[in-house]
Amino acid sequence: MAMESIEELFEHELKDILGGEQALVDALEQMAQESSDRDIRKAYTQHRKETQGQIKRIEKIFRSLGQKPEPETCLGIEGLIKEKKMFMREKPTEELLEFFNVGAAQKVERYEITSYESLIDMADKLGLTDAVQLLEESLQEEEAALNKLKAIASEFDVTDETEQVGETEEDAEGQHATSRR
Ligand code: FE
Ligand code: ZN
Ligand code: FE
Repeated sequence: MAMESIEELFEHELKDILGGEQALVDALEQMAQESSDRDIRKAYTQHRKETQGQIKRIEKIFRSLGQKPEPETCLGIEGLIKEKKMFMREKPTEELLEFFNVGAAQKVERYEITSYESLIDMADKLGLTDAVQLLEESLQEEEAALNKLKAIASEFDVTDETEQVGETEEDAEGQHATSRR
């Protein structure tokens, strides 16, 4: 059956972000486990809790539309999670993995922010006032999470491993972005 209405598109996009949020509950847990920094761990754990609340809001919207909350695989977010897994093959130091994760988490927040902005626009066009309200609440949490991660990244103090472990020719060229402060 062909899709013909904004309402159907809205439901489709809602399923997409539901799938994304569900995948992120596990991903945030994973990143919290990988972190050795108390504040960063706290940031992931707190956003994981918020993510569970965001899932509840999405389910509530589905119910108000008389629909079952069925997730779709969110390839955008799954892709970012996959990139993180691929990065492990580089065998990064604990510190570099931490720095990478903070960046990857920011990409995720950007994706979510855009998803929620589009959903809000559609809900607004459809006159779904309650849905707009719920989606706005989640959008605000995502924006706060992004700002928090940005602050964490800018405060990130990384030592130049290449200098500590003795320089090879490749290291001496200083191609590691983290060595520049
Ligand atoms: Fe989220
Ligand atoms: Zn789809
Ligand atoms: Fe988020």
